[in-house]
Parts: sequence; structure tokens; C-alpha cells
Amino acid sequence: MYYNNNTLVFLDGKFIPATEAQTSLYAQTMHYGSGVFEGIRSYATPKGAHIFKATEHYERLHYSAQKMHLNLPYTTKELIDINYQLLEKNGLQDAYIRPLLYAGANMSLTPTPETHLFMAAWEWGRYLGDSLQRLYLSSFQRPNPRSTFIGAKITGHYTNSIMATTEAKSLGYDEALLCDMNGNIAEGSGANFFYEKDNTLYTPPQGNILPGITRATVIEIAQQLGINVVEKLFGFDELKTANSAFFCGTAAEVAGIKSVNDYIFPSNWQDTKGYLIQQAYKQLTTGTF
Ligand code: PMP
Repeated sequence: MYYNNNTLVFLDGKFIPATEAQTSLYAQTMHYGSGVFEGIRSYATPKGAHIFKATEHYERLHYSAQKMHLNLPYTTKELIDINYQLLEKNGLQDAYIRPLLYAGANMSLTPTPETHLFMAAWEWGRYLGDSLQRLYLSSFQRPNPRSTFIGAKITGHYTNSIMATTEAKSLGYDEALLCDMNGNIAEGSGANFFYEKDNTLYTPPQGNILPGITRATVIEIAQQLGINVVEKLFGFDELKTANSAFFCGTAAEVAGIKSVNDYIFPSNWQDTKGYLIQQAYKQLTTGTF
């Protein structure tokens, strides 16, 4: 699904067949989750393949690498250039791109100077699909920002995401919605969250969430469309007065939400601000806005 016999990946300075890419089983990241990564999308536009918000994603990769003391020996510009080469070598335009910076062999709990940069791309539909999501308010909280750098995209954080999504799906829901350590709504396991009430959008502020690049884009689009956005903390009781809600993230793009536990959002999705933003996001990413 992610590669075939013709797929090329970038590993440690070279483009090699995905079938030949190897790593050490003693890599620190394999044991302790100390890697950093990005999830990026490129889109076919009238001017060819365009990596959406490439600079923002590779700057965040640098930020994450610095927080985990992982050496990333490429500039943002070089990373973007490698990314375009990867797309071209694989004949991809609409693609999901996964750069992963991981630590080399080291079984101790200290940083290691040896790091490896892997980059792969493949065709991947919208992560949450096209139907409205039925969410479960997770029994898992998002990591406490005093236990980690919550704004960094660290591989180990995703054990929390996997636990939450697995719980939600095992109970018959589509996805999880997680609270922060104070019981306020924070985000999904791989996407940020907005709700709409009386024509205003509300979203949790930075602090206890991964501040998504899509979240920033949604706020920009809302401003352009004259939609008021308020960043504030809120709990499930307040959410149960909302008209509609959506997730946003690079992989999920803008995904409408049907319900959280047994609360069903009353508005018809096509009549919401989220739907307008979903359409505008599509136009922006595909260069037709
Ligand atoms: N929150 C979490 C926990 C995520 O994993 C993601 C996906 N990177 C997001 C939010 C959305 O971030 P972005 O819009 O930058 O993809």
C-alpha cells in the first residue's frame, strides 16, 4: 500500500528503492519513540505538483528535531528541494509525504549524534474519509505539556493517539476526541478541533494541543470569509450547545463531525461554516482559490 517494487525513498542523502531501505533494530527511536516527523501533502495544481505549506512543515520539523536534540543536517530549503525530487522520481502529484528523522543505535536515554533522515511519499485519500465522523470522548487525555514539548511532532506522542483511536473504534465510533489534563476539549488523535455556534467558530487555544498548520490555515480562511474565530478553553457541556463541528489536519484536511458520544450536532453539514471552509481549503490546496 505504501510502496511497490518501483518506489524510491530518500534515506541518508540518497534515493534508493523502498524495497532496499533498511535500519538498525538498535535505533533509539525504535525502542523509545524519540524520533520526529511530519505529515505533509502535495496537490496537483494547474502549475504542477505543489507541496502545501512546505516551509511551515519543514520549519516545524526543525523545531521538533531541536527539542529532541536530533541533528537535522539540511536547511528547510534543501528539505523542500529533496521533497520535490522525491515526488518527481515517483511520478506523484497528489501525495502524502512522510519525512522521519530518527536516532541511530543507542540504548541509553541520552541523545545520540547519529541520526537518519527518511522521506517517503504515496497516494493517500483523506485520512478520515468523506463521511461525517461519530466521535467518542476519549478516556485518554492528551499528554500533559509539562511532560513533553506538546508543539513538537514526536513519534512517541502517537502511542497516546493510537490508544485513543483504538478505544473509540472498539466501542463502535469512528474517531476519538481527547481532553487536556484539565478536562477541557483539546483535539483529536491526529487533527485539531473546531465547533460552530451562532455563526462563530471556537477552537482550543495553543498550550495543550499540537498547533496544526491546517488549524492556522482554517483561521486565515475564516478571516478572509468574514467568519469570527474565538480561541478559548471549553468542556463537553459547552460543546453540547454547538450547532456543528469539524476536525482539521494535513491528512484529514477538513472533516465534518456528526456527533460526540450521544450528542448529535443539529445543523446540516452543508449549511455550516465548516462546510464553507472545507470548500475553500480544497480550492486553496489545489491552486484554484
Ligand atoms: N493534532 C495532532 C495530534 C496531530 O497529529 C495533527 C497532525 N499533524 C494535527 C493536530 C494537525 O496538524 P497539521 O494541521 O499541522 O497537520
